Amino acid sequence: MERNYELGIAFANKKDQQDELYSVRENFYIKEDEIYMDGNSLGLASKPAEKELLNMMEEWKEKAIGLWDGYFHFGLELGALMAPLVNAGENEIVVTGSTTSNIHSAISTFYHPTKERYKILVDDINFPTDRYAVDSQVRLKGYEPEDAVKVVKSRDGRYINEDDVIEAMTDDVCVILLPTVLYRSAQIVDMKKITKAAHEKGIYIGWDLCHAIGAVQFDFQDVDPDFAIWCTYKYLNGGPGAVAGLYINKKHFDKLPGIAGWWGNRDDTQFALKHAFEHQKDASGWQVGSLSMFSMAPLKGSLELYHQVGMEKIREKSLDLTAYLMFLIDERLAKYGFSVGNPREDDKRGGHVCLEHDEAYRICQSLRQNGVVPDFREPNVIRLAPIAFYTSFAEVHKVVDIIEDIYVTKKYEEFSKTRGLVV
Ligand SMILES: *Cc1c(COP(=O)(O)O)cnc(C)c1O
Repeated sequence: MERNYELGIAFANKKDQQDELYSVRENFYIKEDEIYMDGNSLGLASKPAEKELLNMMEEWKEKAIGLWDGYFHFGLELGALMAPLVNAGENEIVVTGSTTSNIHSAISTFYHPTKERYKILVDDINFPTDRYAVDSQVRLKGYEPEDAVKVVKSRDGRYINEDDVIEAMTDDVCVILLPTVLYRSAQIVDMKKITKAAHEKGIYIGWDLCHAIGAVQFDFQDVDPDFAIWCTYKYLNGGPGAVAGLYINKKHFDKLPGIAGWWGNRDDTQFALKHAFEHQKDASGWQVGSLSMFSMAPLKGSLELYHQVGMEKIREKSLDLTAYLMFLIDERLAKYGFSVGNPREDDKRGGHVCLEHDEAYRICQSLRQNGVVPDFREPNVIRLAPIAFYTSFAEVHKVVDIIEDIYVTKKYEEFSKTRGLVV
């Protein structure tokens, strides 16, 4: 999209005045003296999320064991609230487990290696937990990851080349797991093209949407992935450690869950407590144990905001915010050695901007001291995520002012180059 931006703060203020979503930020707990640019790691608390959490406490107080009557299907209900974000079909999404445990659950369901077909295809720039899970799953089946996990290498350490992935789909590959939006570079990988190629070769494919869900829109009816997983505490603002999302394509509802538990048993016989597992033939069949109600309730409130606003407007504003930020970086920061490490095209970049600089680590430390919350990713990336729900154009402008000041006055030099525990 063609966008014309101007440098002064007056322009940012004008954008905010014209912004249809501006008032949505009133729902969030935003600190007066802080600009939060880390909503892609942990989204902010909102009033609707708080309300649902407190309501769950009341339910427990009032109803005790009787609470389950109203919440037996809560995992699927939250899944249904999320379905429009990816255009999933009925009961294809369940809110359960964590991203990592859902990767285990999905891989153990779809990975049935044979002598000829025993490899799982992954990339080398995904978030590491995905790889740890895949490696341990092949070990459980008696293979060595060096042999059974096939890795597509990024050509530049930033992006995944779709054709390289397709070329790696050899006859010995049976499952693929890839990220949809790269956590460092914000690249949107072409899901449709890769999924189609995988299916033509008879390979199951699953996608990790952690850095995409709630920022980028998808159409699963069209893409037709076999499975997908995502966390709900990043753009979805479900709260720290909130219960994750698992998508199972309805054509696989008959498959036996690789990791089974009594909450995945058929509804009508769950409480018969028989020892033979009969799985529920929808995504809820992949639930394992009792629902983590307090880590699910806030998500209900947060998803209401998605319903009120709609993904189309969220994506539109997110693109506008990141395009404006890139414009300011090009115009004001490039001369100091800063560069943009994410794709420029609207259909290729996710919800954050990947700002690269040799002094990224110390600049991040200094940003925190100066009222901006960014996050740092090795080796030289400052991730800045302006969030459609709660970041204003004026805040984006201010962040660039602060970065310029930190650099020009060398404020970052007072910080050590030694890395902390959580960066
Ligand atoms: C954030 C993230 C995770 C996190 O896994 P959890 O089990 O939720 O801690 C996994 N994969 C990717 C790609 C992520 O971005």
